[in-house]
Amino acid sequence: MLPLINVVWFKKDLRLDDHAPLYNAIKKNPPLLLLHLNEPSLLNAPDCDCRHLRFIKESIQDIQSTLIPFNVLFYSIYGEAEQVFTALLRHYKIQSVFSHRETGNYLTYERDKSMARFFKNENIIWKEFQQGAVLRGSENQSDWNQSWKEYMQAPLYSIQLHQIRSVKVPETILSSFPSKDYTSNVSFLMQPGGSNFGHKYLYSFLRERSQYYGKHISKPEESRRSCSRLSPYLTYGNISIRQVVQSTEIAKMELEDKRNLSFFQERLRWHCHFIQKLERNYTMEWQNVNNNFDSIRQDTNPEWIYAWETGATGIPMVDACMRCLNTTGYLNFRMRSMLVSFFTHHLFQPWQAGAYHLARMFLDYEPGIHYSQLQMQAGTSNNSTIRIYNPIKQGKEHDPEGYFIKKWIPELTLVPFTMIHEPWLMSLMEQKYYNCVIGYDYPKPIVDINLSGNQARDILWKTKKKENGM
Ligand SMILES: Cc1cc2nc3c(=O)[nH]c(=O)nc-3n(C[C@H](O)[C@H](O)[C@H](O)COP(=O)(O)OP(=O)(O)OC[C@H]3O[C@@H](n4cnc5c(N)ncnc54)[C@H](O)[C@@H]3O)c2cc1C
Repeated sequence: MLPLINVVWFKKDLRLDDHAPLYNAIKKNPPLLLLHLNEPSLLNAPDCDCRHLRFIKESIQDIQSTLIPFNVLFYSIYGEAEQVFTALLRHYKIQSVFSHRETGNYLTYERDKSMARFFKNENIIWKEFQQGAVLRGSENQSDWNQSWKEYMQAPLYSIQLHQIRSVKVPETILSSFPSKDYTSNVSFLMQPGGSNFGHKYLYSFLRERSQYYGKHISKPEESRRSCSRLSPYLTYGNISIRQVVQSTEIAKMELEDKRNLSFFQERLRWHCHFIQKLERNYTMEWQNVNNNFDSIRQDTNPEWIYAWETGATGIPMVDACMRCLNTTGYLNFRMRSMLVSFFTHHLFQPWQAGAYHLARMFLDYEPGIHYSQLQMQAGTSNNSTIRIYNPIKQGKEHDPEGYFIKKWIPELTLVPFTMIHEPWLMSLMEQKYYNCVIGYDYPKPIVDINLSGNQARDILWKTKKKENGM
């Protein structure tokens, strides 16, 4: 007779607090296998980068060290879901699998459909729990705002770690899976993973950093401190959205001026709102939501795409933002929008051609938010307003002294702030004097911003008019 166990399958919910599957699994009789999977098909997908894997690894290390005093084991195994569960079934009888529902990319959607069949064939009960305020299937018919509110106000799941009776998987079984250390390099320029850090960011934001939240939200440099920076912790579930919502509500009570935190709370709702959009329509990962735009932006220009990806377009604000993102994994909302606007309007490239690069570079890559936002900025979602950012104007408004630009583009270090946003306007003598010859030290702009903006505006409005039958 094989030993009977239950499995808690951790996905993008790498925490031990407010965890519905863990909470419910503990109440059952069989001992628990706490399991996370590193699925090669997901790790090798074009939207995955080693920065994500490092964050996951750090999150798991954080969980494992929290569990040590409780003598509880947590396994992270390299293998496809079906392959790992098949191997486990040779040694255990699995009664139930507990997990959160995942609203991820198409690969996870297909994997979950196939695992549902697998579990059914093996007589395993798969209990899936709501992730954040995202609803599935028929639940989706209800009043979403009301259900968001109810979910956020419900008590947190309090997990009694000492009550976990965990399964110790024998070495003979573990050795049948490759032990692949897919990422070991620590990056001090990126946010470290794990619930401990997530809570530290939340605490410092609510106590202090939020005071300039609204004022600095669009500024690429200042927002790095004044925004919460909770996004990767929410993406990987190091902290639950409900924990953040409830802590914010408490912090707000102590403040006289509640505007910053109200502004922040609105964004927390957007988090679930956008994931809900992908839950409703998974094709938005590759297809225009508004198919009236299918006839435009059909060609790609690989040289331009490469220049955009590497921060070498010759437009300082665009290049500084991309270089900063590539190195640190973070950029504020306004500058993300500006990068996409530049790509889809000024370079007139299909958003799909830039989606994977950004997905890999954003440490907080969350498919539901990512694809909704890409399509909104490209103007291809339903009822999108056409917003074409002028990166020169954005630079002058949000980095007037060129501090952010100089930080990321050392080639422009000596250029005075009066010329930093349009260095190509310098005379050759000035270029030599400031050690930045355009076309030699720093690229010539790949497009004329005014011209490209006007051309894009014309085409987009014509397409929109056709859509409205005008
Ligand atoms: C093209 C593009 C792609 C984006 N891709 C992602 C992504 O993959 N993952 C991601 O978390 N955010 C994404 N965003 C939204 C937003 O830029 C980030 O959530 C935000 O900059 C993260 O910083 P923060 O945690 O300091 O945000 P804060 O301003 O402190 O906000 C707190 C939280 O609210 C949520 N939030 C904030 N703004 C938005 C928004 N506009 N839409 C949805 N949720 C929001 C996030 O969970 C964020 O962590 C994208 C925006 C654009 C324009």
